[in-house]
Amino acid sequence: MENHSERNLAEMMSLRGVSRRDFLKFCSLMAGTMALPASMIPRVAHALETAKRPPVVWLEYSDCAGCSESLLRAHNPTVGQLVLDILSLNYHETIMAPSGFQAEKSLEDTIHEGGYLTVVEGAIPTGDDGIYCCIGGRTSVDLLQEVASNTAAIITVGACSFYGGWPATTPNPTEAKGVQDLITDVPIINLPGCPMNVDNLTATIVHYLTFNSLPELDDLGRPLFAYGRRIHDNCERRGHFDAGEFVQAWGDEGHRNGWCLYQMGCKGPVAYHNCPTIRWNEGTSWPVQAGHGCIACASPDFWEVPAYETAPIDSPTPPTAYPGVEEDGGDGGAIATAAVGVAAGAVVGAVGAIAVQQATKSKEE
Ligand code: SF4
Repeated sequence: MENHSERNLAEMMSLRGVSRRDFLKFCSLMAGTMALPASMIPRVAHALETAKRPPVVWLEYSDCAGCSESLLRAHNPTVGQLVLDILSLNYHETIMAPSGFQAEKSLEDTIHEGGYLTVVEGAIPTGDDGIYCCIGGRTSVDLLQEVASNTAAIITVGACSFYGGWPATTPNPTEAKGVQDLITDVPIINLPGCPMNVDNLTATIVHYLTFNSLPELDDLGRPLFAYGRRIHDNCERRGHFDAGEFVQAWGDEGHRNGWCLYQMGCKGPVAYHNCPTIRWNEGTSWPVQAGHGCIACASPDFWEVPAYETAPIDSPTPPTAYPGVEEDGGDGGAIATAAVGVAAGAVVGAVGAIAVQQATKSKEE
């Protein structure tokens, strides 16, 4: 795996043939994702052009590798992929080129130098002295503690490294845990989801490079820019919810017409994530748009909740609440807030587009 730690993004862009216009579009997109005003776009651009890539150690333990898949599927060849690509990804058990002693040496050197970011994917089995997940003869508990000892911060990606995820499902035979159950003396930022959305990882790293700090977090350690808004308030099916138009069975007329999935178990009214706005696969779609209710995969212990549990039609929220998540029902205030958010987003987008045009123009001149 090539080490790009000595190159900044401007040099990498030049090598990969990324245009100035595309780069500034990306900066505008990242500013929007992080809920920054358009006036911050030049600062984001400057930071990305000049910052050295932070070294990253990516640990993967008990999981399905879905978050690594999400990383690999950053659309090609965007600047977003470039930002992730040129992280000095010094160690990643699944996708790194070196193996054996060479891989271990890379990890040792990175830990020794310090100042790196650690990304953790997967739960950490702690039962029976951690023997259920060993790499190079060492348990995941042991490895995580060593890597955490000299890291700048830990980013957990996906549900499993957040609260244990599927490996921790009752009865949790391996006693799988999330990172925050084991590491308490290092800044931790959680990017839950099943899997995590790679755009949120990109935005978190861009924030770190721009401000030399982690973004503001909610009570669950999740960045507010990505987890500060309720799915229900940004859902394209919300009008049908308000009109009382619900899907009653898979494939029925309401389902074919894109009606609300609340009665099919949708947890959107108690879930906080930016899926409806950034979506997946290059912004193409997201589960509710594709016809399946939200399963609140960024909420703690969502795996213990039946995905298709239906709610009474007159209930303001589904019957199941999630720990640490505040319910606020689907009232007019929330709709008004959402409308203001959409309007504000449109203004930021328009101003951002103008800023990009001006910056591109001045660069070309
Ligand atoms: Fe969308 Fe689900 Fe809310 Fe219906 S209940 S509007 S499908 S988030």
